[in-house]
Amino acid sequence: MNDSKTTILLTGLSGFIAKHIAARLLDAGFHLRGSVRSMARGEAVRSTLAAAGHAVDRLEFVEADLTRSADWPRAVDGCRFVVHTASPFPPTQPKGKYDLVPVARDGTLHVLDAAIAAGVERIVLTSSVVAVYIGHSNRAERPFDEADWTNVESDVAYPYAVSKTLAERAAWERVEGTETELVAINPGFVLGPLLGDRLGTSAQIIATLMRYPIPFAPDVAFGVVDVRDVADAHVAALSALEAPGRRYLLSGGMRSPIQLGATIAEFEPSYEKRRPRWILPNSVVRILGHFSRQVAPAISELGRYKSIDSRPAEALLGRGLRTPEEAVEATLKSLRAQGHI
Ligand code: NDP
Repeated sequence: MNDSKTTILLTGLSGFIAKHIAARLLDAGFHLRGSVRSMARGEAVRSTLAAAGHAVDRLEFVEADLTRSADWPRAVDGCRFVVHTASPFPPTQPKGKYDLVPVARDGTLHVLDAAIAAGVERIVLTSSVVAVYIGHSNRAERPFDEADWTNVESDVAYPYAVSKTLAERAAWERVEGTETELVAINPGFVLGPLLGDRLGTSAQIIATLMRYPIPFAPDVAFGVVDVRDVADAHVAALSALEAPGRRYLLSGGMRSPIQLGATIAEFEPSYEKRRPRWILPNSVVRILGHFSRQVAPAISELGRYKSIDSRPAEALLGRGLRTPEEAVEATLKSLRAQGHI
């Protein structure tokens, strides 16, 4: 690959994960076009990346919104690859189960249609583990892997999981029979160092949780992965010969909120008194879930300690993934440096 002659479109450049991907692609010498919803946001990312020591002379912006199909042909023009990270990721779930689908799925199809028409070679799509294991009971015989799909019909499938599942499914269907290759990256809950002072949803969740004493937590566990591994996986997926057609699940380990709270308190002793210590009975979580859209996603995983097969992702990277504890420590370092905690 002749990096300096290759232009890559990175959608959602202003996002937490995308900025890390951008830093790597610029360091590798690619010409990078980042889609943003406002040019001002693009300029803020340019300053952030420059301040972090990355060369930004090969970085350009294009204004594009997932809700507008007409924006995307211009965005992909001349691009050999597309990395599609943009998608709604609200900290609180909307009311309707399918509320996020029009932007997430149709937006993905707007990007893909333009990319396919422009002859883009390969698209790397940021999906999620919530497109893999929601709506299934736990299973002991094997971890959840790339062959699994979230059951959107299930009562416990919540709006964000539904949107990621339907967007990814639609993407696979759309590239079928075309020359354009697709790779999906399916991370767990992404933590790690922040680039710039915009928190993004992941760090917002941590900063908000740390603000209040929350003695009880639901009996759930979720995969946690470091943003540095997530960004590396996106970059590796652009060129790995074996990657097209695959879904790479990324989790550095499953952790419960009580375990995460203990880790946070280890690195931030002032949090010790506020951290969760006791399991909230499942019946109470189910009742709370009817009233709180923040609690509702936990219902799907109550008592289900699933495991996720990240071995293909480790093979893609040629190394193991960072632990959740490394990711938490790095998040806290950034939050502290920026005065959020
Ligand atoms: P952020 O909230 O930091 O970034 C989301 C990005 O999507 C922003 O750039 C945002 O733009 C853009 N976006 C949202 N809606 C639109 C729209 N209508 N048109 C154009 N752009 C839009 O989230 P992350 O970086 O954490 O997430 C990036 C991707 O990773 C998402 O697809 C998310 O689902 C996925 N993911 C994230 C995980 C996590 O724990 N963080 C876990 C698994 C998957 P703007 O700045 O203008 O709002």
